[in-house]
Amino acid sequence: MDKLTSVSTIKYIINKYNFKFSKGLGQNFIIDENIVEKILNGADISEDDVILEVGPGIGVMTKAMSERAKKVIAVEIDSTLIPVLEETLSENNNVKIINEDILKLDIKKVIEEEFDGKAPKVIANLPYYVTTPIIMRFLEESIPVEDIVVMIQKEVGERIDASPNSKAYGALSVAVQYYSETNIIAKVPRSVFMPQPNVDSIVIRLKILKSPKVELLDKNIFFKTVKAGFSMRRKTLLNTISSGFSMEKELVKGILEDVGIDPKRRGESLSIYEFAELANRIKESQV
Ligand code: SAM
Repeated sequence: MDKLTSVSTIKYIINKYNFKFSKGLGQNFIIDENIVEKILNGADISEDDVILEVGPGIGVMTKAMSERAKKVIAVEIDSTLIPVLEETLSENNNVKIINEDILKLDIKKVIEEEFDGKAPKVIANLPYYVTTPIIMRFLEESIPVEDIVVMIQKEVGERIDASPNSKAYGALSVAVQYYSETNIIAKVPRSVFMPQPNVDSIVIRLKILKSPKVELLDKNIFFKTVKAGFSMRRKTLLNTISSGFSMEKELVKGILEDVGIDPKRRGESLSIYEFAELANRIKESQV
């Protein structure tokens, strides 16, 4: 078989296995070797690393990663791809394929059993229809991972990486940046996929923080504050926080002033540190 990035290889697989691309499963396969290189270089893989891949497809990244890392576990939901992967990865003995939905799999158990508890790097060209749920699952469930390096839809990547006062900054930016340091590694045009999607992509690295960026008295109240802060973009914090928490405006005004935030500011101007201070003060006001 020729290289897995070559269109003739993909056509050979389509014919041999009667494979049909599923749009619903976000199947857009990489057909440019340089992109695989970019993702792998961005993930800084060493031979001691263990890797968890989401959605190997026909195994293009899996194969390259297995040649650089100690072990690769690849989780693929589409059972029609399993015989394909058995062929394309037949010589890669440090790879194991799990035919499961990454959103349902007991990932902590897999890490325990397959990697002896060592935190893997999560590396993937993610299916775009479930990018955010997959990323948030790793972060919110405190799944022990070292880094997450993923190719995702450009707009989502820009939202994740955004800073205050920018158009892309929102609840997703704060949520991901609470758990990780974000870094855009590469911009990728839609032309490097088969079939070609309607959007461009970005490779982003999330370096998981040992402890979250801010100290919180109550995580739920923090995320409720963030949600309220971004709920109505053109409204002031005085309005969004009082409606989000069903609190009297006078009380909210006092709280905002206590933490040095002008009640006329909008949520999109608040840094994660300011959201944390505000949420902690709200929590204190409730006891
Ligand atoms: N890694 C391959 C590549 O780069 O060419 C394929 C990437 S393709 C964008 C996404 C892959 O994720 C597909 O193989 C798809 O079947 C798989 N997938 C979609 N939803 C999934 C889920 N919930 N759990 C595991 N795999 C999933």
